[in-house]
Amino acid sequence: MSVRQFVYKAHPSRVIFGTGTASKVRDEVERLGRSRVLLLASPRLTALTEKIEGVLGPLAVARFDGAAMHTPVEVTEQALEVLRAHSADCVVAVGGGSTTGLAKALGARTGVDQVILPTTYAGSEVTPVLGETDKGVKTTRSSPEILPETVIYDVDLTLGLPVPVSVASGVNALAHAVEALYSPEANPVIDLLALRSVSGVAAALPVIARDPADAAARADLLQAAWLAGICLSSVGMSLHHKLCHTLGGSFALPHAETHTVVLPHAMAYNAPAAPEAMARIVEALGADDAPAGVYDLISSVDGPLSLRELGMAEKELGRAAQLATARPYPNPRELTTDGIERLLRAAWHGDRPSRTGR
Ligand code: NAD
Repeated sequence: MSVRQFVYKAHPSRVIFGTGTASKVRDEVERLGRSRVLLLASPRLTALTEKIEGVLGPLAVARFDGAAMHTPVEVTEQALEVLRAHSADCVVAVGGGSTTGLAKALGARTGVDQVILPTTYAGSEVTPVLGETDKGVKTTRSSPEILPETVIYDVDLTLGLPVPVSVASGVNALAHAVEALYSPEANPVIDLLALRSVSGVAAALPVIARDPADAAARADLLQAAWLAGICLSSVGMSLHHKLCHTLGGSFALPHAETHTVVLPHAMAYNAPAAPEAMARIVEALGADDAPAGVYDLISSVDGPLSLRELGMAEKELGRAAQLATARPYPNPRELTTDGIERLLRAAWHGDRPSRTGR
């Protein structure tokens, strides 16, 4: 038997988890030795943001509500002006991956401390990775200043997340965990976190779809998302993430929903080359087959199943396949433009992946 070789690297952040934990935000800012907060929010989360603003009290010196998907640099520049005008030394972000992205973009430019209160399951809050869009082109970079110092997970902030957003965002987390299991950089620590994350998402999503206010299921899903974020931060991602970056970046498809549609198909493509990872996913899902099990999970909670329903034009599939294979991420199975176009076609139609993979 060969000995498994690996490198393991952790990204340090302070994580507070529970219900009612948003009430600790002022203490956490003070713990960092900061006193002038720029509060970042999404326009749709006014009530939650006002609550956090109340807890911060005089520490909140400014607020910026313009965070947008894929972190456009022009939005970051507007926020940067507000940050400088108020001499803020800390940002507190309340929202999903878009708001977290803005906090990270400000951290990357100024080194300000970041305290993040996630309201979705994107996992970005524990990664040192930032994707930014400039003139329609999305680029990604990684650095220690990008990693937020403190994450406050408050289950209460997620109770109002609509079921369709919860489903798509939960599958976004699942995708980080799945790809971590067949990453070339996979290691035993990340394997454990990834498997725990897969089983957590699979168990929690159906409960939340029935009762979005079920705090125990929300807590399980938030923990699964945190673990998936650690997976994303620690090991390289493969075909699935490349396809989603291509579809989001060049065809303007929505982030989490695209992950939801593509994941079973990317898994089916990779299944023949990653049998061990698939066997472990089968066990964690409690299904007979990994790609079909993920498809059935999404279908059971009424998640999106086809690129067609996300607004992708069928005639673009060939170009998408070319873009996704031009500069691929490391992947267990070799990529061919024909193979990827077949994958995308199946995803466009919303076919259930066959057991044997394709
Ligand atoms: P998002 O932050 O855009 O949120 C989706 C929608 O849900 C928004 O309209 C938002 O206002 C709304 N919303 C959020 N929380 C809510 C709540 N509690 N109640 C009601 N509505 C709520 O989407 P997302 O999927 O969380 O994040 C996507 C972004 O994050 C993308 O830009 C993606 O590239 C980035 N991301 C980055 C990383 C990374 O490590 N760098 C990882 C994952 C995602």
